[in-house]
Amino acid sequence: MHPRNISILGSTGSIGRNTLKVAKHLGDIAVSAIGAGQNAELLAEQVSEFRPKLVACGDADCAQRLIGELSRRGILKEDLPEIVFGEEGLVQVATMPECGTVVSATVGAIGFVPTLRAIEAGKRIALANKETLVMAGELMTSAARQSGAEILPVDSEHNALHQCLRGEKLAEVKRLVLTASGGPFRTKSREEIAAATIEEALDHPTWDMGDKITIDSATLMNKGLEVIEAHWLFDLPGERIDVVVHPQSVIHSMVELVDGSVIAQMGVTDMKHAIQYAITFPERLPNPLPSLELSSVSQLTFEAPDLEKFPNLAIAYRALEKGGTAPAVLNASNEIAVRAFLDGEIQLNEIALINGRLVDDHVPQTADSLESVLQADRAGRAAAEEMVSRSESATASINRV
Ligand code: MG
Repeated sequence: MHPRNISILGSTGSIGRNTLKVAKHLGDIAVSAIGAGQNAELLAEQVSEFRPKLVACGDADCAQRLIGELSRRGILKEDLPEIVFGEEGLVQVATMPECGTVVSATVGAIGFVPTLRAIEAGKRIALANKETLVMAGELMTSAARQSGAEILPVDSEHNALHQCLRGEKLAEVKRLVLTASGGPFRTKSREEIAAATIEEALDHPTWDMGDKITIDSATLMNKGLEVIEAHWLFDLPGERIDVVVHPQSVIHSMVELVDGSVIAQMGVTDMKHAIQYAITFPERLPNPLPSLELSSVSQLTFEAPDLEKFPNLAIAYRALEKGGTAPAVLNASNEIAVRAFLDGEIQLNEIALINGRLVDDHVPQTADSLESVLQADRAGRAAAEEMVSRSESATASINRV
């Protein structure tokens, strides 16, 4: 089990593809296992190039298509990797004995059980899937304490905080400051946000990411989820985790120490930096990314987040304060609401209406077992689906398109 022998959950997504670029650049990385959803064609391309021993597909149909793609590429039957599918398949990828590092980069709750199994197996987790920590922070951090698994954040803000905190004592930290780009609607009115199209919401000003996280960035839910993520990663309460809007995204996050000194981590906006850091930590290695040229940035600006226009951020703080299963319900609700927005069923501002209602109505239970977390996730999804189906704008927005 070596840290540079890696497995990737979500290899065909944005972080997964960037992880493979990092592996290629570093050279001494073995990619032993990869798992993805439905993109058999890209999986086949990745198998041809990186020759993993184990590949997980979303379902049996995708596994069949992958075998077809690989044989079309001339890969002989005896050279095929082991091909598995479903959640059990992802768990096999996450717990492959020779892999020391698991890059957890699936989108949403699907990566939760595989990531938990990897933690229990004592792997280093390069964590890009923040939803898993939001759902089950208590369960995952206590499993990591027991197994000795390290969780290294790939989320750029938390990766920045990890870098700022190197050598610092937690007792000397006054607060964490997460930066937010503010998304594409930072300067728009409430009315313009409510009427936003899917294309407008997917047009992120500084980071190139997958659809779910890009919508979360447009509603500031992403920052809310990141506050909860930071709570679990760095063991600080919500009142010591602040958010500042910084549209240039040059400062990736900051730590204020008790003596008032503020340590910031800066860099170009490219996820490959955080991915490489998480894989090679505690070593730092060169990479082909361009240098940050502050003279061409010319100015860095900061403003407080507008909680009236972006209620999701305040909702996330409320979920964290409630504790227990409340963040799991928020995460489930948000996944359903974002999917409904992307499917044209609700308006952008309704995502926060649904999330807020579910969090405020939820009576939290303890979230210290797999069953309690999964139960909260199911209940949150069902309640959010129900609210989506009752949305009055469902028909109106379809007509508008
Ligand atoms: Mg982030």
